[in-house]
Amino acid sequence: MSMKIGSHISSAKGYEAMGKQALKLGASTFAFFTRNPRGGSAKAIVQEDVEGFLALWREKGYGKIVAHAPYTLNACSDKAEVRRFAREAFAEDLKRMEYTPGNYYNFHPGSHVGQGTEEGIRLIAELLNECLYDELTTTVLLETMAGKGSEIGRSFEELRAILDKVVLSEKVGVCLDTCHVWDGGYDIVNDLDGVLEKFDRIIGLGRLKAVHINDSMNGLGSHKDRHARIGEGQIGWEAFVRIINHPALRDLPFILETPNDDAGWTKEIAMLRRAYRD
Ligand code: FE
Ligand code: FE
Ligand code: ZN
Repeated sequence: MSMKIGSHISSAKGYEAMGKQALKLGASTFAFFTRNPRGGSAKAIVQEDVEGFLALWREKGYGKIVAHAPYTLNACSDKAEVRRFAREAFAEDLKRMEYTPGNYYNFHPGSHVGQGTEEGIRLIAELLNECLYDELTTTVLLETMAGKGSEIGRSFEELRAILDKVVLSEKVGVCLDTCHVWDGGYDIVNDLDGVLEKFDRIIGLGRLKAVHINDSMNGLGSHKDRHARIGEGQIGWEAFVRIINHPALRDLPFILETPNDDAGWTKEIAMLRRAYRD
């Protein structure tokens, strides 16, 4: 199977434009923000636009795309109105996701802002229990986080604790962000096998649906969350060659969230494809 790789793409011009832009970059998957990453309302979906995209994707034989919830969505804020926005935006985004059935919707679990990890986990699971429903074809992905501030999802155990509280947990998977797990203290440079074994033991590799592929400006366990271009950070090129070829990861969609412009992503995608062993 050939490598599924892409970057974040602007959703401003709609679905078909995103698909075409992805092809231009040499991508076979991509991520996009379901609305302004800083929040706000989402653009209306145009049925013909979605259908144009789906036809293009079918024609190319490409698989799943990985939508990203806005950063401002905090399921476990200490403020009721912020939690209400999170619930409304999340529910609305899931409705929108069903225009492109069977794809992924990734979100940052949230920051507990001093309420404590346990309460944060409870509130995140509560949002999921309110928003997930039986007919949903989208898989929601919890992103592994760097542990900056009071972020939940800094450890595999925290993600497991969320999953354990979700009734329709078969609709929930995990997106592994390489910068975040590294910053969170998981040594994917010297012990990738060990980290993935731990993931399997605590969460289960069956839950792992996508990879955010980012180098990190900072060291192991730094909890900083500053992305670097592939090979230009502290994770380094050799580790990424092992990551993209690892049997537990190689068939997943790889999404670049590196500080780049279109030319930079085109180059990065090509470079990673060359290092991928077919
Ligand atoms: Fe993210
Ligand atoms: Fe990420
Ligand atoms: Zn990040």
